[in-house]
Amino acid sequence: MQNLSTIALAEAVPFPILLINAQEKILWANAAALRLLGGDLAGKLFVTVLRQPALGEALEAALRRGESQRVRARISAKGREMVVMASVAPMPADPALELPQGGATIGLEDITALEEAEAMRRDFVANVSHELRTPLTALMGFIETLRGAAKDDPVARDRFLSIMGREAGRMNRLVGDLLSLSRVESDERRRPTGSVDLSVVLKGAMQTLAPVAEPAGVQLIREGETGALRCPGDPDQLMQVFSNLIENAIKYGGSGGEVRVEVTKIAHEPVLRGPALKVTVADRGEGIDAMHLPRLTERFYRVDTHRSREQGGTGLGLAIVKHIVARHRGRLKIESEKGQGSRFSVILPAG
Ligand code: ADP
Repeated sequence: MQNLSTIALAEAVPFPILLINAQEKILWANAAALRLLGGDLAGKLFVTVLRQPALGEALEAALRRGESQRVRARISAKGREMVVMASVAPMPADPALELPQGGATIGLEDITALEEAEAMRRDFVANVSHELRTPLTALMGFIETLRGAAKDDPVARDRFLSIMGREAGRMNRLVGDLLSLSRVESDERRRPTGSVDLSVVLKGAMQTLAPVAEPAGVQLIREGETGALRCPGDPDQLMQVFSNLIENAIKYGGSGGEVRVEVTKIAHEPVLRGPALKVTVADRGEGIDAMHLPRLTERFYRVDTHRSREQGGTGLGLAIVKHIVARHRGRLKIESEKGQGSRFSVILPAG
């Protein structure tokens, strides 16, 4: 009875659990283990199911020396590479469980996502440090020069101060974008409660960017639906989305001479399953090679790092856009063809 309830308990655990006998054969596996490793486990030698030296050694230690161990192992199961934390513990002899000479239990915990998240965090910190260090190094160099060689040269001093101002501005923008990103990420699960008129937001974004468009020789054109276009949303965040997209279109697609901002009403958007408003920011610039499209919204991903830096880009604009759109339960669609320009569409639920 006691063993039966032990087994029922192990069956209910969502992690894979295996019971191994003294001959290193699998005696029993819970449902999660069968799902992970395939249905036909009983009677198989453990080593033929999971060929992992670290696991084999831990099993050996449990069976021969009665030691418990936790080991990290990289396994492949169901055609997928994964990282698991295995808890291997000795099991006392128990004839009722067909373990006359004792055995061992092995519990597996899938830590693949955890390790991936950790690697992403490390990459992010490394990227941020690098991005901050570049302007900081320039600033320190100029401070040195102003103290020494350029001390009494007013012309050089002015020139260096203007470069220093630009570099400090770059750091300021980066810190601003990092703060935006962390704020958006932290409230991504909370749906915006306000209501927004997209016409007003788009007009604001276009007005703000007119001084950037004009010197670049780019005409900003509003097309499609006009009048009040209401949808649930956070006006400041949506302003940020469309400013980022329009600014990118001017910066990277400005060679086409025009940027169109078009709104269409969709009666039933299949993925959002309801009425929606679609805003497309389209340029006629050089476009983006297809291989870059899936990665464009990653933090710090740029097609041309040098060009992005020259334009004062932080590499975070589209990552911020993606998170804000996700918070609004919307979709972001990027279409582009080399030489034909790019179209960035934001589809927002309207009801
Ligand atoms: P950045 O600060 O570099 O502009 P973003 O996240 O806003 O960062 O954009 C990432 C990259 O996507 C840019 O560096 C650029 O290479 C590319 N990109 C964005 N918008 C466009 C566009 N309209 N046309 C061509 N390339 C674009």
